[in-house]
Amino acid sequence: HKYVYLFEEGNADMKYLLGGKGANLAEMSRIGLPVPPGFTITTEACNFYLKENKSFPEGMMEQVYAALKKIEEKTGKIFGDALNPLLVSVRSGAAISMPGMMDTILNLGLNDETVKGLAALTGDERFAYDCYRRFIQMFSNVVLEVEHSLFEDIIERYKSKLGIIFDYEIPAEELKKIIEEYKALVKKEKGFDFPQDVHEQLVMAIRAVFDSWNNQRAIVYRRINKIDDNLGTAVNVQSMAFGNMGNDSGTGVAFTRNPSTGAKELYGEFLVNAQGEDVVAGIRTPMPISKLKEELPGVYEQFIDTCAKLEKHYRDMQDIEFTVEKGKLYMLQTRSGKRTARAAVNIAVDMVNEGLITKEEALMRVDPEQLNQLLHRQIDPSAKLEPIAQGLPASPGAACGKVVFDADIAEKLGEAGEKVILVRNETTPDDIHGIVLAQGVLTSRGGMTSHAAVVARGMGKPCVCGCEVIKIDMANKQFTVNGTVVKEGDIISIDGATGRVMLGEVPMIEPSLSGEFATLLSWADEVRKLKVRANADNPQDAAKAREFGAEGIGLCRTEHMFMETERLPIVQEMILADNEEERKKALAKLLPFQKEDFYGILKAMSPYPVTIRLLDPPLHEFLPDYETLLLEIAELKHSHADPALIRKKEELAAKVHSLAEANPMLGHRGCRLGITYPEIYRMQARAIFEAMIELKKENIPAFAEIEIPLVMDVAELALLKEEINDVYREIKEETGVELEYAVGTMIELPRACIVADELAKEAEFFSFGTNDLTQTTLGFSRDDAEGKFIPVYLDKKIIKNNPFAVLDRKGVGGLMKIAVEKARSENPDILLGICGEHGGEPSSVEFCHIIGLNYVSCSPYRIPIARLAAAQAAL
Ligand code: ADP
Ligand code: MG
Ligand code: MG
Repeated sequence: HKYVYLFEEGNADMKYLLGGKGANLAEMSRIGLPVPPGFTITTEACNFYLKENKSFPEGMMEQVYAALKKIEEKTGKIFGDALNPLLVSVRSGAAISMPGMMDTILNLGLNDETVKGLAALTGDERFAYDCYRRFIQMFSNVVLEVEHSLFEDIIERYKSKLGIIFDYEIPAEELKKIIEEYKALVKKEKGFDFPQDVHEQLVMAIRAVFDSWNNQRAIVYRRINKIDDNLGTAVNVQSMAFGNMGNDSGTGVAFTRNPSTGAKELYGEFLVNAQGEDVVAGIRTPMPISKLKEELPGVYEQFIDTCAKLEKHYRDMQDIEFTVEKGKLYMLQTRSGKRTARAAVNIAVDMVNEGLITKEEALMRVDPEQLNQLLHRQIDPSAKLEPIAQGLPASPGAACGKVVFDADIAEKLGEAGEKVILVRNETTPDDIHGIVLAQGVLTSRGGMTSHAAVVARGMGKPCVCGCEVIKIDMANKQFTVNGTVVKEGDIISIDGATGRVMLGEVPMIEPSLSGEFATLLSWADEVRKLKVRANADNPQDAAKAREFGAEGIGLCRTEHMFMETERLPIVQEMILADNEEERKKALAKLLPFQKEDFYGILKAMSPYPVTIRLLDPPLHEFLPDYETLLLEIAELKHSHADPALIRKKEELAAKVHSLAEANPMLGHRGCRLGITYPEIYRMQARAIFEAMIELKKENIPAFAEIEIPLVMDVAELALLKEEINDVYREIKEETGVELEYAVGTMIELPRACIVADELAKEAEFFSFGTNDLTQTTLGFSRDDAEGKFIPVYLDKKIIKNNPFAVLDRKGVGGLMKIAVEKARSENPDILLGICGEHGGEPSSVEFCHIIGLNYVSCSPYRIPIARLAAAQAAL
């Protein structure tokens, strides 16, 4: 069985076997780009190793040695040879990129003998011992698990003794002493000598890379990013290119286009006389790639050419790692570059205009969920700002929160619902859990490709990095900037789009659709089959929704109108009424308010339809809390208040008590209210019709879809529909005006799905209320489930997603499918939509497309997401 592939044997399509890094190294070799020779050990070998108690599959090491022979032939160097040693890197690489999560070892193949050979061969002793020093440190840390800081302590001691700042200034003689101390440290920590046998080094390194698949941060990263734990990592063994051979050498990271804005420009950083992780670690601040043009013009030319070739070949923006050895360029990695939503949209549209990709491809290139970033807040451009510092604009968006210096604290406060900004010198993969729960990240060191920047962009979190003027004092939990002291818990704002940092909270604005974003969405509109509506309860939200492209309102909740302060007392009066007479009086007072509401929202949406749901929640939601009332009564009694007042309160308390329900979600609510108190729904119907008459007089087209909630049987629907039609007939009699409207129902009970054919005889439309349908199908009370047991269910992999966020296709979706089929069999023209939270979630939108709904309805800010998701579903 083949476990090892030379780079020239693989290609980009073999990602699952060779990992993304290996497959792309193979592809780059294949198309003739300068890649140091190497080979890849497959993910299959890794999975075998992890399953079979850490043993290599049979024959794997023989294949490794055979491949190593080929590398020796190509490079003319020999692994472990004292005179002409081959050095390699051993690099992890999974099918799905997990930047920095797993381990890589450079300069492997050095020992006390080969280092001399390397020195003699290159005539550069300092270089050779610098490699050896790096190798011992990296190998000991990654493979032997000796604390990184112990090595840093030694080197720092030497630097301060020598009075120098940078590693590359340490002379060869001192490096030799450092190496001796390093070896002694390993001996002390591990009880054995640093391995001198290069073959043993190689085997240990391969094991370490396999093992790194299951290190803590990789596991966390996979959980956050929903990556399958069974993919495994490949191992790439590659001959070294040396970026630490002087000032015509160096290492860099670049994107073929700007990953923040999408602008068509090379974007990246280069560090002279450095190796690998020096750039990412953010220890020295690198120079922008454009400067390479001045420093090493020949290399810059090669680089530009190569980037152009890569983009043309991959037809996408690439994220590249490269090294320059004495003026010669080597490509060490390429992958499709992570980018902000803004960049994703701009690049997709630009590439269509450049003729590189089709419109359909452009639509598939943008992750709908990611558009959320563009629909987020920015700092109000008209705000007068007084920045206290300026860093690099590493990830756009504005954030505000309390300063926190520690990822654990950020996590804790974030979980408690506090807004925090994580402030660090630099971040490492061990900080991920804190970044997840922070509003944004601010670092004092590191460039645009530092860990903090990459991670924040991936998560769509605002980030400012390399803000060198802030001096962090961890011991005192504060930072200072030009004399200002900012303590833990103080509020700051950061602007990831410009790099500015402000004290306190600054004014922010909501986003809008324009330019490339609008273009892309117009392409989405050309292909999608689903209409997109909004859930909106007032004219402002309706207007916002239209701006984002809504084609109607799929859910207007009338109870939100009942909650407003001036209306609540009237609503309470209505609820507390002892008889129908009194109730009608209160309802008459509510009528003008409701009419005004419906007038406003129908007008804002004109000529599109508005689905108006009649009153749904249990009535006690409008009343004061029982316990609070009891306390108030006790206090009134204690202060000998007016007995009449006390009696009134007591009556109220009694009524509240009588309305309390053991299980309100399944209680006296929805159409059951309309059945028991028909006058409530009659008032609402009247308000709708009167508003429509008003609009008709003004020649403003309006169409109301009157929706009856929580129906389980056609008899409920028939009865309430007749009430509504009766109100209409009354009004027609009074005014002589004729109106067009529809009556339908929300489908949110399993029984309703099963009897959908009967319901469809009475209903002109169905809207799947998948929030409640999920509750009633799974028997999960949402408010209890999300906090208490869903996280455990996710953790134990009983469920894949939170069913309230991502539609449960099998269960809830299964019922929806039954309902759709039954409804259409009875009433082929019935209008079918969804109005649960799922209506704005891409995979749920896809499901709605598959089962043939007519529209999805979601919150105004998710409309662009739904438009794109609907297009992707149709492609
Ligand atoms: P990661 O997946 O964390 O990016 P890599 O395997 O890409 O890890 O290695 C990190 C860096 O190490 C690379 O970007 C490159 O700079 C350096 N590196 C890896 N292999 C080699 C090599 N063969 N020659 C020179 N540098 C290398
Ligand atoms: Mg890399
Ligand atoms: Mg409901």
